[in-house]
Amino acid sequence: MIKTIPLLLLCLFLSGQIFAQEKINLFKIHSSQTSFAKRLSRSGIDYQYNTKKKMYYVFAHSKNEIIEKTRTRSFRVIEFIPSEPFESLRKTREFNKYQNYPETIERMKKLSTQYSQYLKLLDLTAKYNQPMTTDGNSLYALVLNKKQRRDDTEKPKLAFIGEHHARELMTHHAVLDTAEYFAKMARRDREKKFDNVEIWFIPVINPDGLDYVFNVDRWWRKNRTKNTEGSFGVDLNRNYEFAWGKCGSYSSEPNSEIYKGENFFSEIETQTIDALNEDLKFQYLISYHSSGDEVLYPYICGELNSEEQKYYYGFRDHLAEQIGFGKRFASSSGEDFEHHYNKHGSLGFLLEIGNDFQPPFEEYKKEVYPNIIKAADVILEEMNKQPFLKLHIIENSTRRSVSHALINIDKREYLEKEVRESNSNGYYFHRLPFGQYRINVKLNGRRRGKDFDINFNEGNTEFELKI
Ligand SMILES: [Zn+2]
Repeated sequence: MIKTIPLLLLCLFLSGQIFAQEKINLFKIHSSQTSFAKRLSRSGIDYQYNTKKKMYYVFAHSKNEIIEKTRTRSFRVIEFIPSEPFESLRKTREFNKYQNYPETIERMKKLSTQYSQYLKLLDLTAKYNQPMTTDGNSLYALVLNKKQRRDDTEKPKLAFIGEHHARELMTHHAVLDTAEYFAKMARRDREKKFDNVEIWFIPVINPDGLDYVFNVDRWWRKNRTKNTEGSFGVDLNRNYEFAWGKCGSYSSEPNSEIYKGENFFSEIETQTIDALNEDLKFQYLISYHSSGDEVLYPYICGELNSEEQKYYYGFRDHLAEQIGFGKRFASSSGEDFEHHYNKHGSLGFLLEIGNDFQPPFEEYKKEVYPNIIKAADVILEEMNKQPFLKLHIIENSTRRSVSHALINIDKREYLEKEVRESNSNGYYFHRLPFGQYRINVKLNGRRRGKDFDINFNEGNTEFELKI
């Protein structure tokens, strides 16, 4: 008996320790030390510099952890916001409008009923035959397609994605607010802005993390995978395949906030989204995060094809200017938009919205929402500016559409092994100025392809290429 009491105490102490280690707190920090940012980015600690407030937002378990990992004491904690379940904050008027995962799914259902002619709710987990997440959740999407005919599915596609990082609570609202805004517009669409686009809304990629934010820890960032050494979570936006673990701020330590995972696509959530883009091949993609009012673009390391870069960066500048955002490279390799561009040809951006992770909801509505709407307008206008080049690849002997045929325009050189291929239905869209082009089409696994000379102009934008 005497022996078991200390053992019991030890157990209690240890479990308390583990629990204490789990919780993440937000430290708003001032430091005039010039190397502080560098020290932070080398430390594996997740942080953001808030340019407006001139403070570092640092997520850590304790002040001691920050001192140990940055190896400096020359900083001052201005504000300390401890962890607590976000649910307890929802009792206040400031925060009661933020929606948890079940409420988000409810809102998606409601929108798809309200605008049932062209807004559809899809279960991505079921569609792509994926397992459910660690905590038994499925991923969902809303799809907006104003079909002219019943089989009208082959249009240029755009995706809005939110909630890679669980605590960035504005981001799923941003995605569904965009869906609602577009659905309303599509109903009256006199200018026919929705005839030639298909738009996907995936508000929550990290449902387990979102549940955890509401029920346990408002500052949780990762998903809820149980790691082999006992800690929880992989940073989903470090887990994508392209240049995984190559540069930027990521960590190989499972208990880090920016843990990249055991391998690329080790996580069900990232696999499911990749399966979706492998199937559809989005032309544009916006991934919402917070915060900082910035547009992030590729590559943090690597070189883009110069022809594609010209258009891509041009559109980046236009978008950033229209919404008044700054610009910078990705924070790390393994982020979704770099991967989607590399592997699927999607012109993707990460938008860091707002100036805080969880501002009072009114602040989101007043200061952030207008930018979300402006961004939506800019990108919709861009998609309608000029028809895309549309190719349909068909196998000559069988007359069947060829999925995942490799496409190259004018012998473009891709320095980071970018993949440009037809989607599952054999279609390929590309944003190009009108002109004469030589298109090379190669079946996957073949050594040589076939060339087609095309004259892409106002009256001639779709081509059937038989191979
Ligand atoms: Zn984020």
